[in-house]
Amino acid sequence: MISFEIPESIVNQSQMTKMVAEQAMRPYSRELDEHEHQRPEAFVNMTWPFTQQMMKSALKGVEKRLHGNGNGSNGHAAPKGPDFSILGFIMMVEQMSWGDAGQYLCLPHPMLGGSAVQAAGTPEQQLRFLKKFTEGDPKWGAMAITEPGAGSDNSSMRTTAILDPDTNEWILNGEKIFITNGKLALEESDGLCVVWATIDPEAGRAGIKSFVVEGNTPGVSIAKQEHKLGIRASDTVALHFDNVRLPFDNMLGTLDASKQPAANRGFKGAMKTFDASRPAVAASAMGIARAALEFTRDKLAEEGIVLDYTKPRHELTAVERDLMEMEARHKGAWLLTLRAVGMMAHGESNRLAASMCKFRAGEAVTWITQKAVELLGPMGYSREWLAEKWMRDAKINDIYEGTKQINQLIIARSILGYSRRELK
Ligand SMILES: Cc1cc2nc3c(=O)[nH]c(=O)nc-3n(C[C@H](O)[C@H](O)[C@H](O)COP(=O)(O)OP(=O)(O)OC[C@H]3O[C@@H](n4cnc5c(N)ncnc54)[C@H](O)[C@@H]3O)c2cc1C
Repeated sequence: MISFEIPESIVNQSQMTKMVAEQAMRPYSRELDEHEHQRPEAFVNMTWPFTQQMMKSALKGVEKRLHGNGNGSNGHAAPKGPDFSILGFIMMVEQMSWGDAGQYLCLPHPMLGGSAVQAAGTPEQQLRFLKKFTEGDPKWGAMAITEPGAGSDNSSMRTTAILDPDTNEWILNGEKIFITNGKLALEESDGLCVVWATIDPEAGRAGIKSFVVEGNTPGVSIAKQEHKLGIRASDTVALHFDNVRLPFDNMLGTLDASKQPAANRGFKGAMKTFDASRPAVAASAMGIARAALEFTRDKLAEEGIVLDYTKPRHELTAVERDLMEMEARHKGAWLLTLRAVGMMAHGESNRLAASMCKFRAGEAVTWITQKAVELLGPMGYSREWLAEKWMRDAKINDIYEGTKQINQLIIARSILGYSRRELK
């Protein structure tokens, strides 16, 4: 049974994040939207010390497991009791996205790259690669799966990593597109990008592994920077890998299957990354939705429209019904998100719950922000207010980390008991 009570320490941390959102994000929201790709300096400077602290305590947990305080073999044992740090992160994502979803994506943090290292890497690799986020200048993480011919069906990817037997290095060649924070991670900092590639193009899914490419590695170039509808503060780029040489140990996990839990191996590692990242996307969607909901509620209150929850539905005006529907969709998706996160915190498999919350949150935020623009009238459409920006920022939540349709497919397969081949 998952409890929806949020521990006090996390509520306090979330209140601190709210201050960051109010003071370092919202005031710059419009300017950073207008001047796409400009780095949100105030936000980066305010959050980097916090990220370093967070990463230090996360790595202490990994160290404990590695040095025998866990209860299993190969250092992969789960810590005892629920891990509420995941819930803390999700609450932070929600608050920051309430501040500004585009800026939140510029958080100097391993982000998706970190989720991939944690999902597919050995504890030694987690320590090695994530330690850089505890020291020095701000750094960013990214993850690259999508290719021109491999999006929703990313098992057909063509990027290759071939082992050079003379030097024992991997040689990476290929192209990845629409990579969030690719530039920040690889060109503007000594960050990292986890790149998924095949070591055997004939082997299909079985040949797919993940590789850590560190910042400023020779052979990596930014082929294109996207101009986008929303989340315009965030950088999204196409990456080219031209004979990029990587140390053997930059392949996450191990080639010896017996030394790695089945759930973390190869392509399964990518799917496990999504189990962690989909609730984070849902939380970001919920932050945008709450921003639009609160703003609309306040503006309607200024006009004397305040919800009376004791009134029967048939006595509500159309506007009141819309506002209530906005609240209901927001609350429903947020509870699904907390459920998926709670399952993770308790070490339970959350694949179905993660897809459910991602699907529902993407749909809810798209609907809620459109409704906000509608209810606010012409000012909702004006750039004077942020409502139109929230509507543009919302849509990405239906697209990345598995589109709405793909998450629906995953949900249907899981509930109906169909395999990937039986339900495409
Ligand atoms: C701003 C932005 C940031 C991104 N960041 C990253 C990132 O950091 N890393 C990364 O790897 N990728 C990233 N992506 C890529 C994103 O994950 C893909 O765009 C997404 O997975 C969809 O893949 P696709 O674009 O190839 O679309 P396609 O797979 O070609 O899909 C096109 C449409 O067809 C639908 N469709 C496809 N297959 C089915 C099916 N079987 N049944 C029903 N409908 C289907 C899809 O839902 C979609 O509506 C980003 C994209 C954007 C726009």
